[in-house]
Amino acid sequence: MNDTPAQQAATGPTQTDQQQPRNAPQQRPRQHAPQRAPQQPWNDLSVVIPLYNEEDSLKELHQQLRSTLGRMNLRYELLFVDDGSTDRSFQVLRDLKRVDKHVKIIRFRRNYGKAAALAVGFDKSQGNVVITMDADLQDDPAEIPALKRKLDEGYDLVSGWKKVRHDPITKTIPSRFFNFVTRVLTGINIHDFNCGLKAYRRDVVKTVKVYGELHRYVPVLAHWEGFRIGELVVQHRARRYGKTKFGMGRFWKGFLDLLTALFTTRYLRRPLHLFGVLGMLTALAGFIIDGVLVVEWFLQMTSLSNRPLFFSGSMLIVIGIQFISIGLLGEMISKTRASSEEYAIRDYIK
Ligand code: UDP
Ligand code: MG
Repeated sequence: MNDTPAQQAATGPTQTDQQQPRNAPQQRPRQHAPQRAPQQPWNDLSVVIPLYNEEDSLKELHQQLRSTLGRMNLRYELLFVDDGSTDRSFQVLRDLKRVDKHVKIIRFRRNYGKAAALAVGFDKSQGNVVITMDADLQDDPAEIPALKRKLDEGYDLVSGWKKVRHDPITKTIPSRFFNFVTRVLTGINIHDFNCGLKAYRRDVVKTVKVYGELHRYVPVLAHWEGFRIGELVVQHRARRYGKTKFGMGRFWKGFLDLLTALFTTRYLRRPLHLFGVLGMLTALAGFIIDGVLVVEWFLQMTSLSNRPLFFSGSMLIVIGIQFISIGLLGEMISKTRASSEEYAIRDYIK
C-alpha cells in the first residue's frame, strides 16, 4: 500500500482495475477519471473513521479492523480523522501507527464536525472502495466484506441499515420518522440514511461535497449526482465507551439539513423555480382575496377598513413578491457562480 506513484506507473494499471465486477459502472478506461480525482487509487480499500473523543474505543476498533481486513487479502489504508479531540485519542492513534503502517492520521485543529471529518477523509482517501464507519464500536468492522460484495453487485454507494438498533428510544423513534420523511421526499428507497457504516466507490467520494452537517444526507447528495444507491442490513452495537456527540439538537438541525439537502440538490441552479412558484401562489391568493373584497366594496359600498381579511390579502401579495425577488437574487448568484465543476461527468471519450 505504500507504493509510490512512480512504482505504480511502472507496473501499469493496478490489479484493482481487474477486480471490478463485470457490470460495475466503474469499468471504464483509466484516463476517464472523474474531474476532481487527480490522484491514482493506490489502495483497494480505504476505511475513513471520523472520531471525536473516542480514546477508549480506538485500540479495540483497530484490532477488529485489522483482523477483518487482514483476511480480505487486499491493499488497504485506515484513515483516522481526529476531529479536534480533547482527550487522548490522538496519542492512542500515534501508538497504533507505530505498530501498523496501514494507519494514517489526520488531525483537525479544532472540532469541525463529522461532515468535515468525512469530507477531508474522502479527499485524502486513495482506495478504489471507501468504507466509512463510526469510531465508537457501534459499527462492526466484520461487515466490511459484505458491504464490498454488495458494491460489486453494481452499486455506487451501499448504506448500512441498522435494522435492530441498540440506541435509546429517544433516538430511534425520531430517527424512524426522519428516515420516512427523507425517503418520501427524495424517492430514495433506503431505511437508514444516517448509518455511519457505508461503502462507496471512489467516484462517489471524489464527487459528492459533504459540508455543514450534511453527513446525514450523503445518499441524497450522491443520488442527485446520478449514483446508484443500495442498502445492506448490518449489525449494530450499543455504545460501550464515551457518550453520543449529538444531543437533542440533532432533530431540528436534521430537519433543516434535509431542507438544505433537498434545496441544494434540486434547486441550486434554478432557485426561481422554487421561490417563483411559491411567490406566485402566495401573491395570487392575495390578489383573489383582495379582488373579491374590492368587488364587494364596489357593489355594496361596504367599507374596507373593517375587513381584516383585506390586510391578510395585502400581506400575501407582499410576501409573494418577496419570494419572487429572493428567487431572482438566487438566479443572479447562481449565474455568476456557474461552472462546469458542478456536473458529475461519468465518462469523457475523446
Ligand atoms: N464525530 C466526529 N465529530 C463530531 C461528532 C462526532 O467525528 O463532532 C464522530 C464520533 O466520534 C463517532 C461518529 O462521529 O465516531 C458518530 O458519532 P456518535 O457515535 O456520537 O453519533 P451517534 O451514534 O449517537 O449517532
Ligand atoms: Mg455512535
